[in-house]
Amino acid sequence: MSVALFTLGGTISVAGGSNRLTGAELTAAVPGLADLGSVLEVQDVESVPSGNLTLATMLDVVDAASKAVSAGASGVVVTQGTDTLEETAFVVDQVWPHPHPFVLTGAMRNPTLAGPDGPANLLAAARVACSPAARDLGALVVFNDQIHAARWVRKTHSTSTATFASPNAGPIGHVVEDQVRILTKPARQDGVPGRPEAADLDAARVALYTVTLDDDGLLLQGLADTHQGLVVAGYGVGHVPSALAPVLGALAERMPVVLTSRTGGGSVLRSTYKAVGSESDLLGRGLIDGGFLDPYKARVLLRLLLATGEGLDEITAAFAQHH
Ligand code: ASP
Repeated sequence: MSVALFTLGGTISVAGGSNRLTGAELTAAVPGLADLGSVLEVQDVESVPSGNLTLATMLDVVDAASKAVSAGASGVVVTQGTDTLEETAFVVDQVWPHPHPFVLTGAMRNPTLAGPDGPANLLAAARVACSPAARDLGALVVFNDQIHAARWVRKTHSTSTATFASPNAGPIGHVVEDQVRILTKPARQDGVPGRPEAADLDAARVALYTVTLDDDGLLLQGLADTHQGLVVAGYGVGHVPSALAPVLGALAERMPVVLTSRTGGGSVLRSTYKAVGSESDLLGRGLIDGGFLDPYKARVLLRLLLATGEGLDEITAAFAQHH
């Protein structure tokens, strides 16, 4: 048995200064990996802070991972920085066509610090990647011995090793001793149709606008001339200042505009509040209901959908999976 390991950089590989561990060095530092019963086939892809990763890079990794599972690997592990892990995992989830587990992990403490968490995270991720119990779950984030579904996981703390959490659903399972124990099996959702091309991704510019107190909305001016879509991170259940409502309505006539909440948990509402700038007012002006999706994942989804040429009805239906 084998697991395909792709390394992309991040804190897990930072060995002091500009020194970076290769995948071989990373795996050599993990006690217990040799007893896993699976060989890790390493491919070093990039060695970058995760803020430098792109959707195109992640799609290339998915292509390489597809080849690996077609050649017999039981699952896939990606190591990368944690800063964008909640987004990259969701990209993978949207395009991963196989039942094999695709697990992403990283570390909050680099290998030169006391108590680095990378080796434990990598071992747990590898256990999940070769576990039959983790099949048909799409992309997973394994961190701190918890297993999170890509569609729900968030980075919730800037330094804690327990930073990854799924505020709306909780972890779907745990790694306990050497066992992968799945507690909840969420049904897989439809991903985006097809594999977007890099040029189409570049052309699918999606802005994310977080509404703030006493917001004059000036940044929204001219947005439809430069962007193909917009995600609004509204107050609470999906509200904006009343002066912004017609601005967003006008934008929604020219491109898809998705309504999400800036709070970090919960869904936007549909029909509770009626004031100008409330959720029902904005949906009535043509904004798309983002449901439980957080603004960052909503932006990923909208960009992937636009890059695959989906129209407003298909985009609305794709977001409805997250209601
Ligand atoms: N800044 C780092 C990154 O995302 C943080 C980490 O790896 O945890 O690459």
